[in-house]
Amino acid sequence: MAVSELLSSTLAAGILGLPLGLQANLPGTEIAVDPPVRKGWVLYTVRPGDTLSQIAQRYRVDMRAIMYSSGLEGIALRPGQVLRIPLVDEAPSEVRLPPGVQVYIVRRGDTVESVARRFDLTVLGLVSANPGLPSLDRLEVGSALYIPTKEPGLLLRLKPGETIQDLSRRFGLSMLELARANGLNSPTDVGPGDFVLLPGIQARTTYERLLQIREAERKAREEEARRLAEERRRQEEARRKQEEQRRLQAQQRHRQQVQSQARLRPANAVVAAAGYRWPMSNFTITTYYGRRGVFQRFHTGIDLAAPTGTPIYAARAGQVSVAGWSRFGYGLHVIIDHGEGHETLYGHMSRIAVRPGQWVARGELIGYVGSTGWSTGPHLHFEVRVGGVTRNPMAYLP
Ligand SMILES: [Zn+2]
Repeated sequence: MAVSELLSSTLAAGILGLPLGLQANLPGTEIAVDPPVRKGWVLYTVRPGDTLSQIAQRYRVDMRAIMYSSGLEGIALRPGQVLRIPLVDEAPSEVRLPPGVQVYIVRRGDTVESVARRFDLTVLGLVSANPGLPSLDRLEVGSALYIPTKEPGLLLRLKPGETIQDLSRRFGLSMLELARANGLNSPTDVGPGDFVLLPGIQARTTYERLLQIREAERKAREEEARRLAEERRRQEEARRKQEEQRRLQAQQRHRQQVQSQARLRPANAVVAAAGYRWPMSNFTITTYYGRRGVFQRFHTGIDLAAPTGTPIYAARAGQVSVAGWSRFGYGLHVIIDHGEGHETLYGHMSRIAVRPGQWVARGELIGYVGSTGWSTGPHLHFEVRVGGVTRNPMAYLP
C-alpha cells in the first residue's frame, strides 16, 4: 500500500452536515435520526508507475470520482501528486442492500430531478432513500445514490448496537413489514452497516429542509444577480457620465479654438503691422506719404534718403513679383507680394539683387539705393499696398 495513506476523519459531519429530522407517514410522529456515515477520504500520494485506473480499482471507486474529488482535468498522473480518493460506502457490493435497492453512481450533468425521473421516483422518494443527501442541487459526480425500485421508503443503515427491532419500534412498523421489505428470514440477517428499508416512511422533514436550502440558495443567487446587475448599471452610468464629460470637454476645446482663431484674426493684423521692418538701417525720411502741396502729385509712399549703394532689405517675407525697370518712373524697382493682398514696392534702386518669382525672407537683401527713374537724388521710394491701394507706410512700420 502507499506510504502516505491517511484516512481523513472529515466525515459526514463536515460534508453532509445537516441536522436531519425524519418524519414518518404516521400523523404527528416525528422521528429524528442521525445522518448515515457515508464517506471518508483517503489521501493517496502517486508513485512512479501508478495509473488512475489501477488506483480506482484498488479503492473500488469510480475513476471519475477520484478525478472529480482531486480536481484532475485528465487521467495523467505525476509521482508525488496527492489524490483525494472518496470512499463510497466502503464499496456498495460488500454491503447488504434490501431487495430491489440499486446503487446508482452519479454522472456529470445528473440532477436530483433527472435521476428521480429516470427511476420513476418522486424527488421525495429519492431523498428518502438517500437521507444523507447534502443538497438537491449539488450532486457529487462519482457518489452513490440508492434507488429503491420495488417500493419507496426510508433507507437507513444499522448502527453498531442497533437492531431491526429498534427500528421497528422507532418508526412504528411491524417486524413482518420490515422482514418482507428487506427480504429477511431472521432478524439476525442484518447487522451493523447494513441497509434497512423502512417501507412507506418518507424523509419529509429532510426533504423540506433541502427544499429550504434550495430556496435560500436560489434567493442568494438572485441577490447576487441583482447585485451584479446593479454593479453593471453603475459602471454603465459612470461610463456614460465619463463620455458626456469627454464630449463637453471636446466641445469646450472646439469653442476655445474658434475663439482663439477669432482672436488670431485681429492679432494677425497686429502681427502684419509688426511684421514689417524698415527696409534700410540708416536713412533720413525726406518725404512722407500723402499730399505734399496744392500743385504737386499725391505721394504714394515715403522717401528714405541714403547714399547710393546702401543695402535695401525686404520689409516682410514674400515672393518677388516684379524686379526690373518701371514704365512709371520708379526706375529699377522691386515689388514683393506678402500675401493677403499686402505688397511693398522699392523704387529708384541702383542695382537689383533678386529675380522675379524668388522668395525672400524678412530683412533679406533685395537691392541697393540709387537714383534711377524720376528721382532727383539717391533715395529709396518705399510703398505699402494693401489690396492694390497704397497705404501710409508709417502705419505699418515699427
Ligand atoms: Zn517717392
